[in-house]
Amino acid sequence: MDTPKTRVVIAGGGTAGWLAAALLTRQLGKLVDVTLVESEEIGTVGVGEATIPTIRAFHALIGLDERDFVRATGATFKLGIAFENWTRPGSRYIHSFGDVGKSTWMGDFQHFWLAARQDGSASPIDAYCYEAQAAEAGRFAIGGDAQVNYAYHFDAGRYARYLRERCEASGLKRIEGRIARVEQDGESGEIVALELASAERVAGDLFIDCTGFRALLIGETLGIGYEDWSHWLPSNRALAVQTRSTGPALPYTRAIAHQAGWQWRIPLQHRMGNGIVYSADYLSDDAAQALLLGSVEGETLVEPRLIRFATGRRMRAWEKNCVALSLASGFVEPLESTSIHLVMTALTRLVQLFPFGGSTPAISARFNAMARHELEDVRDFIVMHYHLNARDEPFWRACREMQIPDTLKARIALFEEDAHAYQGADELFRVSSWLQVMLGQGVTPARFHAVARLMPPAQLAGALGDLAKGIAGQVRRLPAHQAFVDRYVSAT
Ligand code: FAD
Repeated sequence: MDTPKTRVVIAGGGTAGWLAAALLTRQLGKLVDVTLVESEEIGTVGVGEATIPTIRAFHALIGLDERDFVRATGATFKLGIAFENWTRPGSRYIHSFGDVGKSTWMGDFQHFWLAARQDGSASPIDAYCYEAQAAEAGRFAIGGDAQVNYAYHFDAGRYARYLRERCEASGLKRIEGRIARVEQDGESGEIVALELASAERVAGDLFIDCTGFRALLIGETLGIGYEDWSHWLPSNRALAVQTRSTGPALPYTRAIAHQAGWQWRIPLQHRMGNGIVYSADYLSDDAAQALLLGSVEGETLVEPRLIRFATGRRMRAWEKNCVALSLASGFVEPLESTSIHLVMTALTRLVQLFPFGGSTPAISARFNAMARHELEDVRDFIVMHYHLNARDEPFWRACREMQIPDTLKARIALFEEDAHAYQGADELFRVSSWLQVMLGQGVTPARFHAVARLMPPAQLAGALGDLAKGIAGQVRRLPAHQAFVDRYVSAT
């Protein structure tokens, strides 16, 4: 090809930087020339170990072999998240990756389930979801007669290293060094080059800002502001610590609410990832650390690491010839493990809109509108977990009493009044997700669709009973998750 390749410079080598490098080299390698600059001295945020099922499609795009990836990153399999103590201490529900029940075109499953519940013939909602039941039973398999929808837990450090090795093997240029200055064109303001502390100059046509919370290019250089969402998502600190595993790995993440936030437990093959997320307005760092260390199981392997963050979104993720990914572009907190997914969707959008003819306002406007829409939907979903609670502490009272986004208010009202849930166009979370979390957080719909009463109660009870029985049977045939992982990684 005669046209010169577009020079892409990726600033930052955390998960976002290496995912960008992997996709661009794999899919656009013939058209672009990719360089990645990172600083080992600065390091990465070091967290981000739970994912959602969309990661599997992205891994296919970058050509990862699943078994190789699971071995290299110490990964386990994830079927959902168990939310403990969220509505009140002692409460628990699973938001699984599965479909709940079977819907008809006239009415979703919950209408039929609510009718059966009124008749006293329904089991708890998760009895009708394969993934939720498999998670509860600690069972898992890939393949077999009924496919489960799954994601992974993995070691973030190993993941970035794994991606790096693969990218470097396919010819990507990596430069080690601290970016000291960003050079802009005097007229257009576009970024022209990164200047490193070593005085090396890295020139490019398109710059991808993966510098994490520093947002060195999009924020510090181009001055794009940040829309603060802390009035809806009040957590602003996390402490992360790793511990030795004390038992078989569960096939789900645990998200355990505490007096001013929540804690995560992410089981890997070789250790447990733990962390506490909290609002510094309601809990001091010392108290958070005591709470974290007092509740972890197993010997701690490292000192707890404090991470400060501000929930919100970059007003424009794409500005001039700079596209910001992940933490540099916004953060809605880790409760539903959405950040890495958002990097992946941003990257697929970038490939689809790739500015081979130079960045234009029309391209960046389209990218930014999609990114904003996507992030606001995710935000609403997460705000809902905080808002719908019946806990008694000041933090939780404030969450209950806060003014939530109108979009979320309308969604909750629709479910509360008439049991309707929906997935908007291009929205990540499906009806089953909204359903599991709204019911799990204690919303009881006042009515359900009359179509559910077209079926005689005995027939409805029979249909639901058969569905639950079928799922229970399928789950019994699955191996224990830990046994599956052991076999999977040691297979030749
Ligand atoms: P970083 O990992 O911070 O990487 C930034 C890179 O930029 C580093 O390589 C650094 O060296 C480089 N850099 C910065 N400044 C310079 C400079 N001046 N010169 C050269 N290089 C520089 N996401 C999920 O999907 N699931 C989760 O379970 C999850 N949990 C999380 C928990 C917490 C507490 C937090 C804060 C985030 C979590 N996330 C999670 C988000 C996830 O961690 C990030 O999406 C992911 O790690 C990507 O981060 P990053 O690459 O943008 O930033």
